[in-house]
Amino acid sequence: MDLLEKCRAYTRADEARDAGLYPYYPAFQGPSGGGQAVLDGAEVCMLGSSDYRALSLNPQVVGAAQDAIALLGTSTNGPRLLNGNLDLHEELEAALAGFFGYEAALVFATGYMTNLGVVSCLAGPGDQVYLDERAHASLVDGARLATASGAAVRWFGHNDPDDLARQLATAPTRSVLVATSGVFSVEGDQAPVAELVAVCEEYGATLLVDDAHGVGVFGRGRGVIEHAEMQGRVPLMTLTFSTALASQGGAVLADAKTIDFLRHTSRPQIYSAGLSPADTAAAHAALREIRRHADREPDALAAAEHLRRALGALGYDVAGSATPVIPVRFPDEVAVLAAQRLLVDHGVYTNAVLPPTGEGYQLTIACTDAHTPDVLEAAIGVFAALRKDLLPRYRRAA
Ligand code: PMP
Repeated sequence: MDLLEKCRAYTRADEARDAGLYPYYPAFQGPSGGGQAVLDGAEVCMLGSSDYRALSLNPQVVGAAQDAIALLGTSTNGPRLLNGNLDLHEELEAALAGFFGYEAALVFATGYMTNLGVVSCLAGPGDQVYLDERAHASLVDGARLATASGAAVRWFGHNDPDDLARQLATAPTRSVLVATSGVFSVEGDQAPVAELVAVCEEYGATLLVDDAHGVGVFGRGRGVIEHAEMQGRVPLMTLTFSTALASQGGAVLADAKTIDFLRHTSRPQIYSAGLSPADTAAAHAALREIRRHADREPDALAAAEHLRRALGALGYDVAGSATPVIPVRFPDEVAVLAAQRLLVDHGVYTNAVLPPTGEGYQLTIACTDAHTPDVLEAAIGVFAALRKDLLPRYRRAA
């Protein structure tokens, strides 16, 4: 058996293709950030995009990216440590630090690399990492990488600060990193930031909140930490630019000494090319837009509340979310794939989530500022029309 035997034996995707239910890598024709998108030549209501503030087509953001390309070209052509650093990166870092209330920031090429680079770099021999059991894969992979240099990894129950406290009470060291997502992108719930801060402060642990889906949405754009009134009490915050900041890339915020350490030792930072001029400028322009409208509640929240209520009233299982992310649960793989296909065929795009554990099949819906009441009414109409086809799948499971 050679190395690639596992690839030849991999049939899961083919089985879904053969059944006409394959949901992945849909190739959109045109932008998908404006509440609508074009798929297979037909217009669909886009309920699967993380462009929460609908900024990816905003003229200021698009213009900033175009200007950056005109001035600096398409690539940084190398790692920031050496030849790939731009004043654009440093201006963005200063703006991020100022907006989120940290001493300093460090921009990475993606949000995934940010979490990977921060966790794997900060946790080493003798350290312990405690992860929420539903933490994003990038935090998990960072922790896994940290084990290679001698860190130990533990899990605490999802959004369960009491479980964390119980475990920290018997931890063999105080050199502990606790990492969680701020908003969970599958469950659609928020971390109990104030309670986690209290536990971490009691046991001298260092808390990291990955606020990929809270930034731009909660806490006057500053995310779940400000929403929980915990500014200044979460030592490490990470974010991605691929959600509300309408770009690519990511950043970590911390005290100046920690950022300087990461700048020189985090491998995904120093061995990978710097973020492109266009992505850097777009993220900065989006941050300016978010700051400019900081006192206005994002329309995405009202849209999500409206959609959640409407789907709940129709009998769909949408419990537990209080963010722009709405999970719609199904009992098994075929049910969720069939639902996704049926919705697309009727002009509504949602994301099908198939967990590797065999539990928690769901469609994930994301609402944005572009989901005006008329756009949503059309989508709700489709969910209502498909009730008879979709809801028996719940009943069969009950
Ligand atoms: N953290 C969370 C919670 C995420 O959902 C994601 C993906 N959106 C990331 C990190 C990684 O971000 P990126 O897409 O920029 O790599």
